[in-house]
Amino acid sequence: MDGSFRFYLPTEVIYGANVVKKAGAALALGKKALIVTGESSAKLSGALDDVLSTLTTDYVIFSEVESNPSVETVIRGGKLARQEGCDYIVAIGGGSPLDAAKVMGILAANDANPLDLYAQGWQNRALPIATIPTTAGTGSEVTQYAVLTIQEEQTKKGLGGPDLFPRVAYLDPKYTASLPLDVTVDTAVDALSHLIEGYLSKRATAASDLTALQGIATWSTALEQLQKGVLDGEARSALLLASCLGGITIAQTATAIVHGLGYPLTYFHGLPHGRANGMLIGAYLRFTEKAAPDKVANVLDLLGLTSVEQFSALMEHFFARYRHELQLSQEQVESYAAKAALTNNAANSLGDPSLREVTEILRASTID
Ligand code: NAP
Ligand code: ZN
Repeated sequence: MDGSFRFYLPTEVIYGANVVKKAGAALALGKKALIVTGESSAKLSGALDDVLSTLTTDYVIFSEVESNPSVETVIRGGKLARQEGCDYIVAIGGGSPLDAAKVMGILAANDANPLDLYAQGWQNRALPIATIPTTAGTGSEVTQYAVLTIQEEQTKKGLGGPDLFPRVAYLDPKYTASLPLDVTVDTAVDALSHLIEGYLSKRATAASDLTALQGIATWSTALEQLQKGVLDGEARSALLLASCLGGITIAQTATAIVHGLGYPLTYFHGLPHGRANGMLIGAYLRFTEKAAPDKVANVLDLLGLTSVEQFSALMEHFFARYRHELQLSQEQVESYAAKAALTNNAANSLGDPSLREVTEILRASTID
């Protein structure tokens, strides 16, 4: 690499206590908002109340986004935005509502089938979005990606476009206080996987390394509390910041084979996204260590660990129970690996994993 790079992050990031209320009239990005949420977390977290008491424009609420959002859901939301004449979006929730809102923003401005967007792109700019994360994991509040479940292809697939970068992201750690422990851990590990995969990506640059390494260091300050299963405000603040840094990182580098292999585990076995990643990172680090020993050592060092085995033991602490329940057959391993080996995520991975190596990463992660 000659050291040249491009770093692009057009999203304004506003982080701190009560940032939504403090935004006041600036929270509105147009004349009428489509507010996009999941079923209950926007209310539970207190974020929806803050938005409704701050917004100065008309709005309509779409509160039906499920985890791992479907094509049908984004079509319904896009239709509602058109019918109601919404010209901007406020998205509140975990990665699922945030991602769904991005595609609704495309469909509100373009008469298109979501499945065609992957190959053909879209003509008109998506509606501007303000994002308010209530999980500390995906970093979707600052990325140009939206991941949808595609039944036709039996997997999840990321859609990307420069106009999918949210206009502004409001990050208030208090919205993550209501997260149950399992979602806290799953999403925290998703953030860690973005930071690690971003740092170990073939597309990593001097600039993305800054956010990745700082993100891992910040994440590690919450590790002890994650392990104990009790998190205070400081740990939650660190995780939200680390998650945002992870999003900023993968907005530059994209993700690697961990995400490519995690998608079928979610699609076929219902594993939450971060949990699927967590089961895979240890074997991925063992593989990547051969190509980039110094970089893997840096990751471990920032986490206070001295070997990949210690890292794997840490993930086992969080996920052994689910891994034992998973029970993949050799045929399943081969079929998921074959799919993952063809993804851009695989192409992005240091060490250029072959099909045999991708299969081995999945096998080692799921079969004792
Ligand atoms: P999620 O699917 O958005 O939410 C998981 C669960 O947590 C839901 O039941 C949700 O409830 C609940 N929840 C959210 N916030 C809560 C809170 N503050 N208190 C209590 N419960 C809360 O999970 P996620 O891990 O954040 O997002 C995963 C999705 O993001 C996946 O589809 C993944 O592929 C995608 N992703 C996107 C990117 C990107 O760059 N765009 C990156 C990584 C992952 P409700 O249903 O009520 O909301
Ligand atoms: Zn992820």
